Amino acid sequence: MGLPLVDLAWQHRQVAAEIEPQLLHMMSTGRFVLGDEVERFEEEYARYCGVRHCIGVASGTDALVLSLRAVGLQPGDEVIVPANSFVASAAAVVLAGGVPVLVDVRDDTLLLDLDAARAAITARTRAIIPVHLFGRLVDMPALAALAADAGLAVIEDAAQAHGARAGSYWPGSTSELVATSFYPAKNLGAYGDAGAVLTNRSDLAERMLLLRDHGSPDKYHHEIVGTNSRLDALQAAVLSVKLAHLDEWNALRREAAGRYASLLAGVPGVAAPPPAGAAEHVWHLYTVRVPRRDRILEALRQASIGAGVHYPVPLHLQPALLPYAGEAARPVAERAASELLSLPIYPGITPAQQELVAATLSRLLRGSLSR
Ligand SMILES: *Cc1c(COP(=O)(O)O)cnc(C)c1O
Repeated sequence: MGLPLVDLAWQHRQVAAEIEPQLLHMMSTGRFVLGDEVERFEEEYARYCGVRHCIGVASGTDALVLSLRAVGLQPGDEVIVPANSFVASAAAVVLAGGVPVLVDVRDDTLLLDLDAARAAITARTRAIIPVHLFGRLVDMPALAALAADAGLAVIEDAAQAHGARAGSYWPGSTSELVATSFYPAKNLGAYGDAGAVLTNRSDLAERMLLLRDHGSPDKYHHEIVGTNSRLDALQAAVLSVKLAHLDEWNALRREAAGRYASLLAGVPGVAAPPPAGAAEHVWHLYTVRVPRRDRILEALRQASIGAGVHYPVPLHLQPALLPYAGEAARPVAERAASELLSLPIYPGITPAQQELVAATLSRLLRGSLSR
C-alpha cells in the first residue's frame, strides 16, 4: 500500500531509542505482569487525564465489561449505546450480562443522539455509554444532565479520544467511569493489546483493582469473582514513553485535519466532518461522507491510498447483535454507514500525502458524479 490508513512505523521511529533498551532490560528482569511499570503508567495517565484513579487492564473491551460490572449491572439491565461504534461498545454490555439498547446518532457529528437516548430510557435502563467516536467528545454537560435526571450510571467509551477535552469538561470529569483502549492504532497505542479504566471514585477504583485480578487483594485470597485482565509491564513501559508525546502527536493530527478541511472545501460531493468548535477534537479518524462510497473506496485502494469505513454496518444490523436490534428506527446511522469514508490520518502524514489523497478523491468524485 502506497499510503496507509495508519502509519505506526513513524511513531516507533520517534520513540525507538528510548523504548528499545528499556524493553530489553525488562526482559532480563523477568517482571512482566503488573508491578512498578504498570503503577507508574497508571499514575502518569491519571494525572494526564485529570482523573484521580487509573487502573490498567488487558484491553478496551475489558475496560468496558469491567466498568459495567463495577457499577453493579444486573442480568437484563438495559444500557444505552450509540448504533454507530466499534462492536465492543455494545458487545461489552452483553458480556457483562446486560441488554444493549442501540440508539441513533446525530446527523452532524455521528455521535450519540441525546434525544434518541432520552426516548429509549425505560424502567430497566441502568447505564449509558457515550462513545467519543473519531476523537470528538459527546456533549458532556447535556449528557450528564440527562443521566442525572434518569438516575443512570455513565460509562464513557474514550477508546478513540485520548487527550480530548471540551472547556471545563473532559472524560471522567462528570461520569462514573471512563473505559479506554491502547490498541496499537489508537491515539495512544501500546505494542499489543492494552486498556485502562479511569474514575474519580475511590470505591469504584478499588472494585476495579479486584475485578481485573480475580477478586484478589492478596495472593490466593479471592473476595469476588473477577477475571484475569491485568496490564503487562512491557506495554505499560511503552505507554509511559509514548504518553510524553501524546499532546504533540494530537496537535499534528489537528493540523492534518485542518489541512484536509481546506483541501476538500471546494470538492463537490464531499461532506467534511463539522469543525470541532470549542472542544479539542483529537482526530483519531478523519471521516468524510461521499456518495457511491463503495466504488470510491475501491478506486482509492486501486490508487494505493489506504481508506477505511467506520463503520460499514450499524450495530443493530450486525448479526451478533440482532437479538438486541428491537424495533426502533435508526435512519441516520443506516444512511451514514453507506456514505462514511475515513481518510489516512496519523502523526507524520505529510502535506504532500494529504494533497494526493484530496486530489485523488476529487478526481474520483468528479468522474463518478458525472456518470
Ligand atoms: C478500539 C475500541 C474499543 C475496544 O478496544 P480494544 O482494546 O480493541 O478491546 C472500544 N470502543 C471503541 C470506540 C474502540 O474504538
